[in-house]
Amino acid sequence: MRILDVIQRTGPYFEKQGVESPRLTIELLLAHLLKKRRLDLYLEFERELDEASLEKLREMVRRRAVGEPLQYITGEAEFCGLKFAVDRRVLIPRPETELLVETTSSRLTTHHSPLTIIDLCTGSGCVAVALAARVEAAELYATDVSAEALAVAEENAKRHHVEKKVRFFCGDLLETVPDSLAADAIVSNPPYIASGDLARLPKEVREFEPVHALTAGEDGLNFYRRIVGSARRFLLPTGFLCLELGDGQSSAVSRLCAENGWTVDQVVKDLQGTERVMVARPK
Ligand code: GLN
Repeated sequence: MRILDVIQRTGPYFEKQGVESPRLTIELLLAHLLKKRRLDLYLEFERELDEASLEKLREMVRRRAVGEPLQYITGEAEFCGLKFAVDRRVLIPRPETELLVETTSSRLTTHHSPLTIIDLCTGSGCVAVALAARVEAAELYATDVSAEALAVAEENAKRHHVEKKVRFFCGDLLETVPDSLAADAIVSNPPYIASGDLARLPKEVREFEPVHALTAGEDGLNFYRRIVGSARRFLLPTGFLCLELGDGQSSAVSRLCAENGWTVDQVVKDLQGTERVMVARPK
C-alpha cells in the first residue's frame, strides 16, 4: 500500500471513530513511523509501505482509534520548543503550562547565582527542565510522589542536557527536599481537577492519563491549600510562588493565599482569556 492510500483510508476511519483532526493524525503517525517530518511525506506519496511498517502502523492506528492520546503513541510531546519523552506514567505537558515557565523565568531578574527554583509535582519534568534550559544560573529541585514519573523526568533532563542542573526528589510536595533550601522561586502545576469533574473530562484524558496527576480532592484545591500552607519556609523573603490554576480557581486560590500570609502579585491570563497563572509573595 502506498503512503497516499494509507492517508486516504485512515483519515475517514479516524473521523468515524471521533478522532480529532483525522488527516493530521494519520500524517503524524506516518511521520513518526518513517522518522520523517510530516511535510516530507508529501514528497513520497507514491512510496510503498512494506508489510512490517504497515503492521506497526495498524497497531498505532488502533490505539489512537480507542482514544489513546497521540503523544503516548509517538512517545513525545512538545513543550516550550523542546521535545519531551512521555508515556502513561506521566501527564502530557499542556500548552497553557508554558505560561508558568514564561512567567517564572521573566521574574527571575535577581542577579545572584545560583538561582534556586523548586518545582512541585514535576511529572514529566517539563517545567523543571524547560526552566533549567532557559535560565542560565538556575539550580532546580523537582519533586513528585510518583517514582515512575520521576524516571521519565530524569530521562528528559538528560535528553536536554540539564541533568547537572536538576535534582529530583521522590516525595509528597516539599517533604523530601533539603530542609536548608531557601529558594528564589517555588513553581507548580499541581493536580487541580475536582473529583466530581473527572467524569466530565474527555475520554483521552480520563482513561489514559494518570489519575493521581489530575485530581485534587472534592473541590480541586487540595494541592494549593497544602502548597500555600507549607512553601514559605523554603522560600527566600524576596522569593515568589508561581502556580498554574485550573479553570475558575483564581479567586479561591487567591483567598487561600491571603489566609496564609501571601500577597498576590500577578495573575496571568492564557490565550483563551482564562486566569491561568498566579504569582504570590510572602507578606
Ligand atoms: N508539572 C507537570 C506538568 O506540568 C505535571 C503536572 C501534574 O502531574 N499535575 O505537566
